[in-house]
Amino acid sequence: MTLDKAPILGVFPPFWRDEGPHFVLSHFQGLMKSLGADVRILDLNIEASLALKERWGDLSRNCDNIWNEPQDVAGCIEKSGIANLLAKAIAAHQPSWVVFLSVNAARNHATRLLIREVRARFHEKIRIAVNGPLCLGQKDAAAIFPEADLVWSGALESAIPGLMGQCDKGTLHDFSEREYFPDYSGMDMSKYSKPEQLIYTWNFGCRFRCRFCLQGAQYAQEFRRSPLGLSGRLQKLLTDFPTVKYIRFYDGSLNADKNLFHDFLNELDGKNILWGGHLTPMPYLDRSIGERLLSAGCLGVNIGVESGSDSVRKLMGKPNSLDVVEFCIRELHAAGVYVSINLMVGYPGETENDFNETLRFTSRMAEFVSCIVANKTGIYAGTPLFVDAGKLGINLNGDVRHEFLFNYWELADGSNTQTIRQERLLRIESHIESLGLKNARSPDAEDEGTRALKHWRIRNRKGVPSTCAE
Ligand code: SF4
Repeated sequence: MTLDKAPILGVFPPFWRDEGPHFVLSHFQGLMKSLGADVRILDLNIEASLALKERWGDLSRNCDNIWNEPQDVAGCIEKSGIANLLAKAIAAHQPSWVVFLSVNAARNHATRLLIREVRARFHEKIRIAVNGPLCLGQKDAAAIFPEADLVWSGALESAIPGLMGQCDKGTLHDFSEREYFPDYSGMDMSKYSKPEQLIYTWNFGCRFRCRFCLQGAQYAQEFRRSPLGLSGRLQKLLTDFPTVKYIRFYDGSLNADKNLFHDFLNELDGKNILWGGHLTPMPYLDRSIGERLLSAGCLGVNIGVESGSDSVRKLMGKPNSLDVVEFCIRELHAAGVYVSINLMVGYPGETENDFNETLRFTSRMAEFVSCIVANKTGIYAGTPLFVDAGKLGINLNGDVRHEFLFNYWELADGSNTQTIRQERLLRIESHIESLGLKNARSPDAEDEGTRALKHWRIRNRKGVPSTCAE
C-alpha cells in the first residue's frame, strides 16, 4: 500500500464532556499510525471548552442531552475561536484529509459550521471526511453531509480504503487482522477537567447484542485484543501522564469472553494500576473473581442492569436472568468491590408493574451497590430497537437525517410517552434517595471516579489486603 505523504488531521468537534480526550482520538491515532500514516489530532471540543469555560456543561446539552439550536452553536463556535484554530492547523500541516470524528447529534451543527469554514477558507483543496453515529441507520450516509468527500458511520477501519486511497480490498482484509493500540501522543491531559482519569478502549463491539445498545450497531463484529502486554502499555501511559491516577475502560463489556477476562485479570494482577470498567453479569462472577478484581487494581465496576423486571430484560435481549445479576452484585460487594449499576426506565413494553419490580429490585440491592445511574430509555439509530420501531408500534417523533438519539418516542397506543418516562424517572430518583443513595446523573451528584477512589482508599486504610498503592 502506498500512502499519501501529507498528514491526516483527525478532529474531534464540540460538544462532549470536558473531562478527558474522547477515546476516538487515541483510537484513530493508533490505527492510522499502525498503517504508516502521518497523523495529527486536534481536540476542538476541549479548546472550545477552555475558551468558554464558565458554563461548558450547560452549553453542551439541552434537557435531553442533545444540542439542538443551530444559532446558539454558531455563537459558541464564533466566541470560542476554534474555527481559527482549525484553520491554523490546516495551514501548518497541509493535511491530505481533515477527518471529523465521532459526529453525533450533539456535534452535528458544530461539525457543519466547521466544514463550511474550511471550505470557505481553503476552497476545494482539502478533502473532508465525516465519521459518526449520526449517519447510522441512513440509507445514504453521504447525503447527510453533502459538503464532505467521504462520510461513514461504522467502525473507523471501514473507511481506510477511502482515506488511504490506494488500499485494495485484499489489503483491507489483512488490515482487519492487524494489531494496533490506542495512541495518546501529543495529548495534554492538563487541559481537561479530570486529568486524574484516562479513558481507554481495549475492545470494541459486543457479542450479546442487547436490542437498545449501540455497540452492535456500530461494530458489525466484536473486536477483542489479547490482554498480553496491556499492563506495560498502561504503565507507560501512567508515566507519560503523571496526573492520571486511574484508567477508565470504555469497553461495552470487559468480560464478554471468559477466557480473555481471566487473562486480563492475570495480566493486571499486582501491577499497581488502578482501573474501572463495565462488566456483564455472568454466573462465574463470584466472590473469588471479586477478590481477583481487587488484586488486579479494580477501583470499581459498572453493571448494566437496566431493569428489575425479568420480562423487560428479556425484551431488551439481556444475556442473563435477574437471579444472575443479583448473585453477581452480592458476590462482588462481599469481596469489597465498588459496584455501580445502570437503570433505564420506560423501555418499550415496560408496564407499571415492571417499573414497580425495578423499584423493589433497587430496595433489595441498595446495601450492595455504591452507586446507581438511572436514566430514561432513548432509542439510538441503527440499533435493533430502532430498526423494529414500526413493528413495535413506536413513533420515533424525530427525523433520522438530523438525529440519532430519539428521546421523544412514544408508543402509538399512548402507554409509553416521554411524559410517562420522565415521571417514572422522578419516582425512581426519589426512591433511590430514600435508600440513602443518589442518581449519579443528578447535576449535584459526586463524581463517580472520585467516589470509587475514596472507597478504595478507605478499604486500604482499614488494612484490607491489596497489592495496589493509593
Ligand atoms: S452486554 Fe452491554 S455492551 Fe453488550 S450489547 Fe448488552 S448493553 Fe451492550
